Amino acid sequence: MTIQRPLIAGNWKMNGLRRDAVARVTDLAARARADGPGCDMAVCPPASLLYSLAEALDGSAVALGGQDCHMAESGAHTGDISAAMLADAGCSYAIVGHSERRADHGEIDPLVRAKAEAAHGAGLIAIVCLGESEAMRDAEEALDVVQGQLKQSLPPGAEADNTVVAYEPIWAIGTGRTPTLEQIAEVHGHLRALLEANGQGDIRLLYGGSVKPSNARDILAVANVNGALVGGASLAVDDFWAICQSCPD
Ligand code: PEP
Repeated sequence: MTIQRPLIAGNWKMNGLRRDAVARVTDLAARARADGPGCDMAVCPPASLLYSLAEALDGSAVALGGQDCHMAESGAHTGDISAAMLADAGCSYAIVGHSERRADHGEIDPLVRAKAEAAHGAGLIAIVCLGESEAMRDAEEALDVVQGQLKQSLPPGAEADNTVVAYEPIWAIGTGRTPTLEQIAEVHGHLRALLEANGQGDIRLLYGGSVKPSNARDILAVANVNGALVGGASLAVDDFWAICQSCPD
């Protein structure tokens, strides 16, 4: 089993206006050019910024991703964006199933799976998010919950070249709280075993939830953690870059 190098992906959520965003990724791309980190890098800005950032990142080591995509290729879906549109705008990745989409838009596993499939159809790498709530963790259901989500959210044909799984405990997102390293190792070990049993053992497993420069090195060194999905800390170039540089050699 060969796992690709780690991926550090920044989820900007609903943040960023053009001038500042272009300056931010231009700075990031310059750092990557001068001192390439030992990881793949991606930024996932709001859809309004994709074309401008694609231009700014052209030829750089920093890839672009969308934060969501619709399951259909086109049609009467006001406010949505298709995977083909993301690809057309220069994206290589699409986040699907983020807990904020699940909570704010009622997205459930079969829909996440259809979105991941649509991403694959457009030639994108789907970053499929899953993770337990605090109540589920307290009830010692975390492993069962992520197992169910993994089974139901990954489409047929998911493999290392088109899919990344991000374990993001909901209670750790944007809270400054993180699971212990042992808890991360337990969930990632469980997910890895499930993927292996399905012949998908080389799919990268990211951890997400309050990753910052001060905890990145420890988290990224945990067994079966193959990178991070970073929210708040991806908005500051210094922090995001420090996290990229924390990947194990
Ligand atoms: C996220 O939203 O995917 C995330 C991990 O956010 P944060 O890093 O801010 O917790």
